Amino acid sequence: MSTTSVFVSGANGFIAQHIVKQLLSKGYNVVGSVRSEAKGEELKSLVNNDKFSYEIVPSLTEDGAFDDALKKHPEVTVFLHTASPFSFSVKDVENDLMKPAVSGTLNALKAIKEHGPQIKRVVVTSSAVAVFGFGPQFDANKVYNEDDWNPVTYEQALSNPMFGYFGSKKYAEKAAHDFVAKETVNFGISFINPPYVFGPQAYAIKDKTTLNTSNEVINKVVKLTKNDVLPAEGHVFVDVRDVARAHLVAFEKDEAVSKRLLLVSGSYTLDTIANIINKKFPQTTVPKGDESRNPETSKRIHKFDNSRTQKILGFEFKPLEESIIDTVDQIYNA
Ligand code: NDP
Repeated sequence: MSTTSVFVSGANGFIAQHIVKQLLSKGYNVVGSVRSEAKGEELKSLVNNDKFSYEIVPSLTEDGAFDDALKKHPEVTVFLHTASPFSFSVKDVENDLMKPAVSGTLNALKAIKEHGPQIKRVVVTSSAVAVFGFGPQFDANKVYNEDDWNPVTYEQALSNPMFGYFGSKKYAEKAAHDFVAKETVNFGISFINPPYVFGPQAYAIKDKTTLNTSNEVINKVVKLTKNDVLPAEGHVFVDVRDVARAHLVAFEKDEAVSKRLLLVSGSYTLDTIANIINKKFPQTTVPKGDESRNPETSKRIHKFDNSRTQKILGFEFKPLEESIIDTVDQIYNA
């Protein structure tokens, strides 16, 4: 069993809770950062493991945000930066999305350089939205891979919350690449680039009315009744347990250093999700999907080749059916 200590920023988030759970199950010590004591205590009781402790980092944008937390933990040798706003319903794109994402990443890296010289590996949770183009910048014929960057400019990102989220992930990731290119650092860095992340919550769900942003795609279908109309929509996805596992591989394997890991399992449409739910949960109120629409819907879904990522990871991504069934089972039955 390992005694390595791993710092996880935003430890109470949907993805981060799975990371914490997997780290603890592999024997790592975990120091998580959260925004308040109440959130720290709640997470501590969910996690229920002596190898977990938390630090309060109230704001990502404050200068020196992570300094005190790292000064208190000279034992930490791995830093996983997951904290970043993920919402499409903010009022002020720059202050609610761009700044916390970009400054949060830079504050983490500066703290590591200045107060965590013993830290050898850093993993930044970026996103597939830092890779793909959207709206007028979506290219239906392009096969996107680990080398691609969303062409959205900073100014375009400010135009609406959706582009704001895309821009926040792109410019936060770019800031990290620039930081390690310019500064002398003791660590190797890796990036995790997932699209929509589906799957059950790591621990019990407190409020099922609204889930985290990506699982709300599934929850919105779950909340439909038989006469509701399913929109002809789809995208690409990956399961949260695979995203967490990839964060561990990213610091455990040397091949992952300086790499962007494009974590895409496959595509989904709401029609397919509805049919998976109907097949597995016959009592559901969800309308039947019309999968004859899938070829048309698929024309609006990004094509991808993540074979380099898959080679580094060395495990298979969970298929859509498993991800949907486990998510919906938790909503209906847990
Ligand atoms: P969650 O919303 O569940 O978790 C986000 C975490 O970041 C929480 O700990 C949250 O703290 C913290 N956070 C958000 N905004 C701020 C802020 N302004 N200041 C301080 N802390 C903040 O999201 P996910 O788990 O889904 O996302 C985690 C990471 O994964 C993010 O970087 C996201 O961009 C990325 N990602 C997510 C995808 C998905 O589909 N879920 C896809 C691709 C990337 P609090 O609970 O206090 O709000």
